Amino acid sequence: MKVATNRLDRGFFKYQDEFEQKALEVLRSGWYILGNEVKAFEQEFAEYTGTKYCVGLASGLDALSLGVRALGIDKGDEVLVQGNTYIASVMGITMNGATPIFIEPDEYHSIDASRLEAAITDKTKAIMVVHLYGEPADMDTVCAVCKKHGLRLIEDCAQSHGACYKGKMTGSFGDIGCFSFYPSKNVGAFGDAGALVTDDEEIARKIRMLRNYGSEVRYYFKEVGINSRLDELQAGLLRVRLSHIDELTKEREAIAAEYKKRLNNPLFTLPPERENANCVWHQFVIRCRDRQRLIDYLNEHEISTIIHYPIPPHLSECYECLGHKKGDFPITEQFADEVLSIPMFNGLTREEQDYVITTLNDFS
Ligand SMILES: *Cc1c(COP(=O)(O)O)cnc(C)c1O
Repeated sequence: MKVATNRLDRGFFKYQDEFEQKALEVLRSGWYILGNEVKAFEQEFAEYTGTKYCVGLASGLDALSLGVRALGIDKGDEVLVQGNTYIASVMGITMNGATPIFIEPDEYHSIDASRLEAAITDKTKAIMVVHLYGEPADMDTVCAVCKKHGLRLIEDCAQSHGACYKGKMTGSFGDIGCFSFYPSKNVGAFGDAGALVTDDEEIARKIRMLRNYGSEVRYYFKEVGINSRLDELQAGLLRVRLSHIDELTKEREAIAAEYKKRLNNPLFTLPPERENANCVWHQFVIRCRDRQRLIDYLNEHEISTIIHYPIPPHLSECYECLGHKKGDFPITEQFADEVLSIPMFNGLTREEQDYVITTLNDFS
């Protein structure tokens, strides 16, 4: 049996009628940019995340880079960010001229909050947490450090739609919460899309302006902005997806529970879960010291896997300029060498999961 790491078509066919109806409705409306669908989605997503404002954008990267800019963070400023994140988190910082200061992750793959204070200097302006793989970071400690040192808090929620820490939604802790709706994310569009959520009216206003060339009144430009508008078609389709999010999250939880119950091979470890947090299982990430052999074995059995991520940002070619070298962040590097994402997506069938589990347990 062939099992893919993701099957986006299954997420479409599950609600095919609703998606097609909405797409036709938008196409026939004659209004394609910044209209009622975007407005409605922004309202619904703010409500879902428990925040006051949501601004729809073209991508998660734009949410991060515009968000950092709206907080007034630029050249000479430092932002603490976990070492084991997707490159976009770091680019959101460096695109504004600021410097990322990498922090090692804890066992839950999120920023190790006990290492934050030692990294703070008089240049530190913000902490960026990434709720990686859908597992919330240690928000009690992170928030306490921010408060004590007067730092801004940025949440990269590109993988954590609906994940809660002590019952509070990720994205609602920080000054800004940055979301991606890339098709494979837990709330996925059918193209690129993103959003920023905040309780701060002034930040929301600024992001709204920046996404539209720095304009609030048509053809009057206050700042040099960018074009990062969420379009009506994506917003409409996202509203359909969002209306089913609880069901979609439950399905991921059930798949994760099955993996946790039945995977029992000592040659790899299963992802631990933080107490008082609800993981939404964007990925199900195991760790294996003999990873390449496991990947080859799974490939032979037609099961595909992905590594999130093989090269940590501090060792990426694009960040040679930061002057880091191998060995600077041993935990981050060990994760990069050992993590493996096994099939986890809405629409994974029971037969497929049974096959993945048996095959994984037979690895020797
Ligand atoms: C996907 C992702 C992003 C970027 O989102 P895009 O919409 O692809 O720009 C940022 N951070 C993390 C952790 C991501 O997984």
